[in-house]
Amino acid sequence: MSAVTSTRIVLASRPHGEPSEDNFRTETVELPDLADGQVLLRTVYLSLDPYMRNRMNAGESYADPVEVGDVMVGGTVSQVVDSRAPGLPAGTYVLGYTGWQSHAVADGTAVRVLDPDRAPLATALGVLGMPGFTAYAGLLKIGQPKAGETVVVAAASGPVGSAVGQIAKIHGARAVGIAGGPDKCAYVRDQLGFDAAIDHRAPDFADRLKAAVPDGIDVYFENVGGPVTAAVLPLLNLHARIPVCGMVSQYNVASDPEGPDRLPGFMSLVLVKSLTVRGFIQSEFVREVYGDFERDASQWLAEGRLKHREDVVDGLENAPSAFFGMLHGKNFGKLVVRVGSEQD
Ligand code: NDP
Repeated sequence: MSAVTSTRIVLASRPHGEPSEDNFRTETVELPDLADGQVLLRTVYLSLDPYMRNRMNAGESYADPVEVGDVMVGGTVSQVVDSRAPGLPAGTYVLGYTGWQSHAVADGTAVRVLDPDRAPLATALGVLGMPGFTAYAGLLKIGQPKAGETVVVAAASGPVGSAVGQIAKIHGARAVGIAGGPDKCAYVRDQLGFDAAIDHRAPDFADRLKAAVPDGIDVYFENVGGPVTAAVLPLLNLHARIPVCGMVSQYNVASDPEGPDRLPGFMSLVLVKSLTVRGFIQSEFVREVYGDFERDASQWLAEGRLKHREDVVDGLENAPSAFFGMLHGKNFGKLVVRVGSEQD
């Protein structure tokens, strides 16, 4: 087979605060010949996720940063084009982690076969993939909602938040979603079946949230931080649980905020309300509950109890702008880039 090229987006420089197009560069590279055990992949869908913003930073985190000059990381659904790996013939669809590029060479052991007849391919990056699992593990292992309790989650129309609220409902809890704007709120309430949805951009957001949780909040699944968290804290019940999943409102913040130190007040609240505040990265729960998640999520999806929505952007070249938009709520549903068509 003649040499295959890959168009790829690399990290050109590290952002300070808001990322911009200047932080990325597009390159075309020739891919190496396949070694035994490897596959050549054609990317179909690239997942864009908030965590990628943190990977652009240098410094210590739960995962290594992307090095300047390296391909941006990311989950992908791809099709095998050529193969020297057993069980992965050309044409097979796989879930991998090949990043922001059109083609890649990967070890056969680093990908997982997908059945396109089982569920739409893009769901492997959303409701049936890492975001869905994040919701499942964080809510059930840390939040532990009981029937009749009230669960609140922001970014409620996104892949993590939408699954949190729906799983809370399946477990008999009351689900209140927080989302940006009337369209997202209508979707969260009317399509996903949350008991209430509150627009965090409304001027009287804090009052509306209070009215929506007459019995207080037992589980606050933290996705965003900032003013949303400030409005939630006074409404927490005794022994409330806070799985700290993400802080998307803070990812582009480059300096500490002005104003009073709120930490002593927060710690006093943790004390007097006997709160459980527990950060987590989804990978820590894979061994323990990934099998349960796969079983339950597939069943709920088939039964129509777990709904999902994808926001598909066409063209790898549009990945940076779509990514910037997601950090400000421009996406509506799980954000994926269609890098190539599903059918070759
Ligand atoms: P989404 O697709 O929901 O996109 C992020 C959403 O955050 C935006 O659409 C927007 O929704 C909301 N948002 C952005 N800025 C603000 C703001 N200033 N205030 C309030 N809301 C804001 O993302 P995901 O579902 O993929 O991820 C949700 C969270 O989960 C993120 O924090 C992410 O980092 C985290 N995460 C953590 C994992 C872990 O292992 N701990 C794994 C996966 C995700 P809206 O317009 O409704 O405000």
